Amino acid sequence: MSSATATLDVINPATEKPIAHLDRAGIEETDRAVAAARAAFPAWRAVKPADRARLLRRVAALVEQHGEELARLETSNVGKPLADSRWEMGMVADVFHFYAGAVDKHYGDTIPVAGGVDMTFREPLGVVGLIVPWNFPLMLASWKLGPALACGNTVVLKPAELTPLTALRFADIALEAGLPEGVVNVVVGPGSVAGERLIAHADVAKIGFTGSTEVGRRVMEGAAQTIKRVTLELGGKSANVVFADADLEKAATSAPGAVFGNAGQDCCARSRILVQKSVYDRFTALLNDATRRFRVGDPEADGTDMGPLISASHRKLVSSFVEGPTMFKGDVPSGPGFWFPCTLVEASNSDRVAREEVFGPVAAVIAFEDEADAVRIANDTPFGLSGSVWTRDSARALRFARSVDTGVISINSNTSVRVATPFGGFKQSGFGRELGMAAMDGYSEIKNVFPSTDA
Ligand code: NAD
Repeated sequence: MSSATATLDVINPATEKPIAHLDRAGIEETDRAVAAARAAFPAWRAVKPADRARLLRRVAALVEQHGEELARLETSNVGKPLADSRWEMGMVADVFHFYAGAVDKHYGDTIPVAGGVDMTFREPLGVVGLIVPWNFPLMLASWKLGPALACGNTVVLKPAELTPLTALRFADIALEAGLPEGVVNVVVGPGSVAGERLIAHADVAKIGFTGSTEVGRRVMEGAAQTIKRVTLELGGKSANVVFADADLEKAATSAPGAVFGNAGQDCCARSRILVQKSVYDRFTALLNDATRRFRVGDPEADGTDMGPLISASHRKLVSSFVEGPTMFKGDVPSGPGFWFPCTLVEASNSDRVAREEVFGPVAAVIAFEDEADAVRIANDTPFGLSGSVWTRDSARALRFARSVDTGVISINSNTSVRVATPFGGFKQSGFGRELGMAAMDGYSEIKNVFPSTDA
């Protein structure tokens, strides 16, 4: 059985310099983490609800207290602008505040039946494996940790190998907050070893997975062996739909952030910009101007909107989507760093750039005729995660929102995530919901108890 096989060099993508050297976990380390989580489970599920809430509130307070340190760590590891990392750490704290409040509001039902009373309880699952990607490392982990811990589960968190630093720091914070040893375990190892082991392990009751659709498929297949529960938050190819009657200035000013934010490495990236033909020239002129103003550079400098991509190999993949002419191509800093320019490409919805998830700062701009055409194009994708519609016609906005097969859609806005509201995909963007009270369903089982009232 393999154990820690090699050292892992963690790189800052803006400098290409190593910032940490870690041992890579293998099967033995993963098994040890699962055993620790299993041993901690009975006591953790028995913690009084008010006390469990108090502990999660303390986690939230410590994340706030260490927010700047965590934000700087995230920026150095992912290359995202510091302002973005600060916002994400704020959300991490808010997630723990929310789920601290959820612990004693996760009710069961009483159901009228003959011969007795029927009642339901929400039971924790046991040990849950949480596998997360590199684009929003701690924030996405918190979306799983919050509800999993609130429901009384213990966890093994496997961060992406490229970005493990905030997850490791979080494990210390959880202990400092007073969570018992073994409740939160972090395993830094390859997906093909540590991840696969979590999926196969008989003592892991559920996998909460965020990542690519390809690996999500693999998670689902593997989970079938032990009938594990799975939540899959996968890829996206979201449409940002601009009708002729929209506030075009506002839609154009907002569009670059919605696709180039986090250097496009965002599952909610509005990477297909659909524009009604009658305003196509005017809107694309505004869009080009707004994209020109999107500042690419040192993630630690004030005012930076976009940093580098995560790695050299990822940059190579992103480049493969931009081999022909472009409508707009921005500038990037010279010197080290995995930079890629903000890029707009005129496309039809059948082009590769409009069909596959680029996961980089590349947007496909697509013209449409009318509402029916916009709905057809928006839905012509295997994904269904997010999206936006811009129009001043509120009836059309709602009609459109109901017609698009997507888990989240915003009207005259490009925002997708809020702590209190459900987030997740339709179609091959996955299933199960994170955030809000909906996430509590994914980390608990309903138990039905029937006490007879017969004399
Ligand atoms: P990835 O699927 O390559 O990896 C995600 C995680 O899975 C990593 O921790 C990785 O180590 C692990 N993994 C890889 N192979 C595995 C295996 N065989 N078994 C178990 N675990 C394995 O994704 P990525 O490149 O890190 O992230 C980018 C992808 O994540 C994009 O497709 C993006 O859309 C998606 N994403 C989705 C959401 C969402 O909420 N829907 C959010 C962020 C990112």
